[in-house]
Amino acid sequence: MTFDSLGLHDALIRAVSDAGYENPTDVQARAIPPAMEGRDLRVSSSTGSGKTASFVLPALQRVLAARGDNTKRRDKGMTGPRVLVLAPTRELAQQVAKSAVDYGRHVQGLRVVTVVGGVPYGAQLKALRGPVDILIATPGRLIDHVQSGKALLEHVEMLVLDEADRMLDMGFIDDITFIAECTPKTRQTVMYSATFAGHVGRLADELLREPQAIDV
Ligand code: AMP
Repeated sequence: MTFDSLGLHDALIRAVSDAGYENPTDVQARAIPPAMEGRDLRVSSSTGSGKTASFVLPALQRVLAARGDNTKRRDKGMTGPRVLVLAPTRELAQQVAKSAVDYGRHVQGLRVVTVVGGVPYGAQLKALRGPVDILIATPGRLIDHVQSGKALLEHVEMLVLDEADRMLDMGFIDDITFIAECTPKTRQTVMYSATFAGHVGRLADELLREPQAIDV
């Protein structure tokens, strides 16, 4: 299996090759094709498996595919993100953002915004005022921005929950449910978790539509 055979845009193949990756990891080979078809996924995989690229690459592919109607969106004042990634901690969110910027290095004009707790609001508010392609957030801080009307989620096409089990352990269940309700029902949802037992499984049942299960 090669990255070429996954059907990724040229700009993404180049970035992956810049990173020195020769072949997709197991989770990448299994998650990228259905994610690019727009399917919902529930993926059990752990850190170190290459899971970040397995959702960041399809997210970037979506941004690239939509390039044509960006001008139209802006004319209508639609500047909210197409892709929203929720992560449990500031560190993880920043790591995902770094991957999005790295793998998106050949995507011209890509706008990745990170919204996390423990840092001042100023820069985040400024970033949210402009157009955003991919928004990466921790649930608590994102809720603040949604409730103050600064983060618009009604144009989200793809919602990613990274390390869902950890987010629930941290007590984010109500925040996640609220955020998901602010996004369109027609969205694609992909969920990553070490386990789908108990409350994580129930959340998956609530948020995912006919998901493909991937266990690595
Ligand atoms: P992750 O599981 O997403 O935290 O990724 C773990 C590490 O694997 C990161 O340092 C990535 O840079 C690296 N990585 C991701 N995909 C590949 C790949 N296809 N080949 C080699 N290394 C990779």
